[in-house]
Amino acid sequence: AETVVDHSNRRDHQSLIAADARHVLHPWADLSALGQAGSLVISEAGGVRVKDADGRSYLDAIGGMWCMTLGYGREELAEAMAEQARQMAYYTPFGDITSEPATRLAEMLAELAPGDINRVHFTTGGSTAVESAIRTAHYFFAAQGRPEKFHVLSRINAYHGGTYLTQSLSGKAADRTHFHYEADFVHHLSSPGYDPDISEISAEERLRQLLDEMEAEIARIGAENIACFIAEPILASGGVLTPPEGYQKATLDLCRKHDILYISDEVVTGFGRLGHFFASEVRFGLAPDMIITAKGLTSGYQPLGAVLISDRISDAISAAAPKDKPVFSNGFTYSGHPVACATAIANIEIMQREDICGHVREVGPYFIDRLRALTDKSIVYTVRGDHLMACVECWTGEEAGPTARNMALAQRVDQYCQEAGLLVRPYENLCILSPPLVITREDIDRIVAILGAALDRATQDLRAGTIG
Ligand code: PMP
Repeated sequence: AETVVDHSNRRDHQSLIAADARHVLHPWADLSALGQAGSLVISEAGGVRVKDADGRSYLDAIGGMWCMTLGYGREELAEAMAEQARQMAYYTPFGDITSEPATRLAEMLAELAPGDINRVHFTTGGSTAVESAIRTAHYFFAAQGRPEKFHVLSRINAYHGGTYLTQSLSGKAADRTHFHYEADFVHHLSSPGYDPDISEISAEERLRQLLDEMEAEIARIGAENIACFIAEPILASGGVLTPPEGYQKATLDLCRKHDILYISDEVVTGFGRLGHFFASEVRFGLAPDMIITAKGLTSGYQPLGAVLISDRISDAISAAAPKDKPVFSNGFTYSGHPVACATAIANIEIMQREDICGHVREVGPYFIDRLRALTDKSIVYTVRGDHLMACVECWTGEEAGPTARNMALAQRVDQYCQEAGLLVRPYENLCILSPPLVITREDIDRIVAILGAALDRATQDLRAGTIG
């Protein structure tokens, strides 16, 4: 195929944009704009800021994609990668072969993880970790002579990944257009998000409804047919949805009662975003059977994911594996890639040395408080969040409620933020924020000031009728 890139000048911005428009199908691309030259080329980054190819600087309140935790341009992480690449860039992780970084990292993760979670199955990212956890849950019951116990409970508005099974587990209606997504063994409970500012019922009442529904669904499917429940402690991509107080623990108790495994998807909530390496135990009183981690595990510097597995499960799958076919048929060429694992080790060391979790516990509530002041604006329906994950939900003021998802609103706010040097993530009518964990109070003030001004400009447009 013919190419339009001028390779003689890597910084030829316009030709890069043209080549992107001609050749790349981006993840989660807007297909109606495919082929139109409009991509933002991010080409440099340092601290909590990124620069585009024209040299414009932006404060990164998206945090890469929930994953940038320690900030950009950390020498120590770059060094860890380079050193491992020089020493031994790759070798197969299959069967009984391992590498030093993967082994050391597994040991560190077992130390950090709650309860009797001591075994690590590495993957390439979050989706492959979720897939692997579901397969492990299936294996666990099937190997013990209960192959019919394979149904999975998930929730509306959950996000668990972009592969076929993880998309079936995810519960975001908008993502289903023209894809065949139904896995007949996946069942969605209601979205558990509870926002006291806009809810007409109390948290206790909402909790009761959610638990009653879960009990009823378990009874309908039959506990003997259900392998596991998968849940983000706070639903991230679904719109930063926090369940009512006590929900996480109560759903775990229900799972225990019915012998259903509990998988906590901490791809976003883990690695410091809520102020702890894993939020499950400390924040929500959970000792899950499996925890999924990715993203912040390497501070986004390398792709890596992992399923953290309790001894109860790993002992059982080992004891019950058929003697003639004992292979655990799951894994990927790049599972636990040595360079990625070396990066994760350096990341954990820095997080511990600099007490990044402590910093998040300190600035997180400030971030949410400052953002919540934006609720006064008429275009803001509600602001919600927890530590360094937050969301500003917009509305026209005339809609029936937040369910009327006017995408143009958040896109306009995003456009004005970008013009003023701030990146937020527009999703439907929401502006989602998850800044790097090293964010300072000063930069939090800057985020809120720019976002506030962008919301004001969008409000004027709304009044002038220029938002479609
Ligand atoms: N689980 C959750 C909670 C996520 O937010 C994501 C990604 N946004 C995934 C799983 C999938 O991770 P990945 O994109 O690395 O495959």
